[in-house]
Amino acid sequence: MKCTKKKKGQKMKVIVLEHPMNSDWLKAKQRALVTIGLTTEKAPAEDWKIKMLKCRHSPIRKLQFAFLILDVPYWLSTELCRHHEGIEKYVKSQRNDRTKEETPRAEKPQGALVNMIIDVNADSLMQIMNKRLCGNATNEMQELMLMIREEVLKTNPEFNQFLVPMCIYQNECKEFRSCGKKALYFGGNNDL
Ligand SMILES: [Zn+2]
Repeated sequence: MKCTKKKKGQKMKVIVLEHPMNSDWLKAKQRALVTIGLTTEKAPAEDWKIKMLKCRHSPIRKLQFAFLILDVPYWLSTELCRHHEGIEKYVKSQRNDRTKEETPRAEKPQGALVNMIIDVNADSLMQIMNKRLCGNATNEMQELMLMIREEVLKTNPEFNQFLVPMCIYQNECKEFRSCGKKALYFGGNNDL
């Protein structure tokens, strides 16, 4: 019998293809300022970036990320595909007529590994993290979110306080059944 679960030790990999640069932050600030009749040619300072991310106003949709995710289980890619606004997903097809793979599509397991690219704006990324870093998300999704978070913070530390579970962002878990801070984000236990 084939194992359809992710095998222990199997590693997904996240590669950042695009992330907001200072020039993108300038574009976001210009969009914020035009609403009050002003403009600028100077990229914003760190504290302005954090204020803008905190209020989640529309100019942050100008900040775009792109991630290449390698060896993601097919079932996990479908969880990501649930997200809708501000995100596009490109997943390797399982159509064996197109990919010339021998195994018929209907016989491929849920755990078959695929590669995907997601294009996502900052507003959407923060919302996805709030939900998918929750302890109610699957462990694999939490792991993937933590990997993306780690990569983002290498280039964009201004996102640190925003790529967090809902327990932190809204100060409580809003799920039907609270995860009780059992998320991997907190170390996977509820003693915190
Ligand atoms: Zn939660």
